[in-house]
Amino acid sequence: MNKGILLVLSGPSGSGKGTILGEYRKDHPVYFSVSNTTRSPRPGEIDGVHYHFITHEEFEKKIAAGGMLEYASYCGNYYGTPRDKVEEKTAEGINVMLDIETQGAKNVRASCPEAVLCFVVPPSMEVLRHRLSGRGTEDEETINKRLAQAITEIERIDMYDYVVINDDLPDAVRDFAEIVDAAQLAASGRELTPEESAHIKNLKEKSAALKAAVKKEFLL
Ligand code: 5GP
Repeated sequence: MNKGILLVLSGPSGSGKGTILGEYRKDHPVYFSVSNTTRSPRPGEIDGVHYHFITHEEFEKKIAAGGMLEYASYCGNYYGTPRDKVEEKTAEGINVMLDIETQGAKNVRASCPEAVLCFVVPPSMEVLRHRLSGRGTEDEETINKRLAQAITEIERIDMYDYVVINDDLPDAVRDFAEIVDAAQLAASGRELTPEESAHIKNLKEKSAALKAAVKKEFLL
């Protein structure tokens, strides 16, 4: 039996990566890792479903005990992936998905080189700003902090294997599903047909072109 793939999904807050994952999970059996965080729950968020909401002290204890596959400090709070479930599920052949920020993704790349890294971006800065203020759950200061953070995250796009532009949700979910299929194929260990190899190469080239377009829109 092949191990499940470990797929990391990053993208600025407001990129819609959580929504893409939610749609994808409706008809694909994957294990979604529920992170630990020290931030407070937003209205509607459930402990154990959206996050395990824990204190700073509890978080630091888990780090010390080696219980975090990766962790990062983001906008003044800790976020981290519990190690045990990720290792258990991939060993069972189940694909595992992480919705994490770029520092954590970098740590995953270092400790699990076989992980597949995918970055989601909104189509423009204007759309990103609009999505962040439209959420209505954050004040002006938090929104500005998240916009600045978004730029920092987009600056790290080159580290990612694949890029998805989330303009139209169904298109983005389809692109994401195609990437997961390709990653699974590449990790299957069997010899690929020329068509399969060409398909994977094509997807990587498409992502390379998207990286250039994203840098032009957000960073220049
Ligand atoms: P939010 O507060 O909006 O739920 O999440 C803020 C950021 O933290 C998002 O980019 C999200 O992907 C990231 N994040 C969530 N869980 C984890 C985690 O376990 N580790 C890391 N490194 N980032 C996480």
